[in-house]
Amino acid sequence: MNGANLFLEFLSLFPLKVKGENCINSEGKIFCSRCKEVCPHLAIEFENNTPKVDTQRCTVCGLCFSECPVNVFEIEIDLTEFYKDKTPLKVGCFLSDWELDIKVPCLGMLNEELLTSLALHSGEVYLDTSKCSICPQGGIYKYIKEYIERANLLLHYHRAEGKVKESSQPPESGEEEEFLKELFGEEEKVRKPTLSKRINVPLWRQLFFEKVKLLRAENLCYQPVKEERLRFAKPIFDPNRCQSSKVCSFWCPTRALSSDERGTYFTQILCTDCGLCQKVCPNSALTLEKSFVPRNNVMAGKIPITRSEKKICKNCGREFIATQGQEYCLYCQKDRQMEKLIKDFLFGENNG
Ligand code: SF4
Ligand code: SF4
Repeated sequence: MNGANLFLEFLSLFPLKVKGENCINSEGKIFCSRCKEVCPHLAIEFENNTPKVDTQRCTVCGLCFSECPVNVFEIEIDLTEFYKDKTPLKVGCFLSDWELDIKVPCLGMLNEELLTSLALHSGEVYLDTSKCSICPQGGIYKYIKEYIERANLLLHYHRAEGKVKESSQPPESGEEEEFLKELFGEEEKVRKPTLSKRINVPLWRQLFFEKVKLLRAENLCYQPVKEERLRFAKPIFDPNRCQSSKVCSFWCPTRALSSDERGTYFTQILCTDCGLCQKVCPNSALTLEKSFVPRNNVMAGKIPITRSEKKICKNCGREFIATQGQEYCLYCQKDRQMEKLIKDFLFGENNG
């Protein structure tokens, strides 16, 4: 069997499933095309606004899985099996000649959040990148390098021990540790993370959260971190524009935004920076700020970010939703602003 056939046979063990119905593109509009943009083999096209994968071109590099902000791509691998009581953890692809703890079709499927959760579990994670330069996939290494850098940033911001390293040589195996375990009996096994495929939060975020919530709260950073490269964002509302239409929370695919008659709420760990809320807001009242608070990844749940109450407009008597204690409905507010502008123009000091 030649190399190409071997490659195809190996890939057939890990078919890529596509759950197009989870995609954030709605009827008639394409809001996101990250999977198509990242695919190095041009295997993804949109049909009826949802991604379709050409299996003849797809090499299961996993970049679409790593980049999609919701749960659309699924690789037939039990990710919870990655969490082994081993340190250092040796990870590589099918070309690697290391004695691996985790073998994946391509390292491209391990984005920063997956790598971080592995490092939180195992302490040290070594990726065999020695074969990237001869890999027939091509073009993936730059993503792998970026994911490693971002994973180490995440560990740093969470003040967590652990490191993700790339290497061309296998690390020393924890033989001493193995010996001690044999001598004194196995340590209690660390619980494997659990995943839910019913919610539209990507598996890499779920695994990250499962591991990060075990961190000791007193050691965590309480300061917001602004880091463009990480997939954490926070919607900032302009109270003068927000009309509490709740369109943002209706469309938020991960339920990071939710609302009731008293306001809108935000759960940071669920937000994967998909950008949809900002794009669908009819009043451009919302902008996404790329920041996160490491502590919120562990402790904070749903926090209110806008408050609203039903009021009667003092001018026209119509019922409206006030988001900032306003006394006039939006139409009367605009009329009053216009009236003021005209008065200033006609009688203002600058025009005297
Ligand atoms: S990356 Fe995910 S959400 Fe974005 S277009 Fe592709 S499938 Fe849809
Ligand atoms: S809050 Fe906005 S950016 Fe975050 S997941 Fe929801 S829609 Fe996407």
